Amino acid sequence: MRKIILIFLSEINPALANELRNSLHETFHRNIETRHQVTDLRYAYDSKRKQYISPRVLSRLGNIRKDRDAMILAVSDVDMYSPGYDFVYGEADISAGIATLSIYRLVNGEDGIHATPKVLQERVIREAKHEVGHLFGLGHCNSATCVMRTCTCVEEVDAANGGFCETCALKSNNSQ
Ligand SMILES: [Zn+2]
Ligand SMILES: [Zn+2]
Repeated sequence: MRKIILIFLSEINPALANELRNSLHETFHRNIETRHQVTDLRYAYDSKRKQYISPRVLSRLGNIRKDRDAMILAVSDVDMYSPGYDFVYGEADISAGIATLSIYRLVNGEDGIHATPKVLQERVIREAKHEVGHLFGLGHCNSATCVMRTCTCVEEVDAANGGFCETCALKSNNSQ
């Protein structure tokens, strides 16, 4: 049984951290190990773009000691990007079983509106399910309300909050 290790690389509101943990447990039926591991992410900083390079965080996380079959979701509050993208909410390295997730762009949408705690919580949980969904072997989905849809703005994130669509739910059950 693969467990999920939830690592908080930044200080995250404890209530949010707890809701995220519970939601991942309910969705994937796995034990969730929570680690609060506030980390200096300067090694991943790109001073030209004033953003953090997600693949660097992913590869550093690869050094973390974990059971071979455990998965890692690492949550931070810094603005991340991956080559080819203006920014990413998160990124999954499927072969390593490791994913990143940043709340930075989920707090402040492109519209500049600061999310309420409730809205932020829904967005974070949605993105967490998306990245862990990748670790369970799911690809992107065309359904507008499925969490495996690719989102490029918070409006899409808010719309794609309907859980896994039937097809994705089936695939994820098969891979568990
Ligand atoms: Zn994705
Ligand atoms: Zn789907």
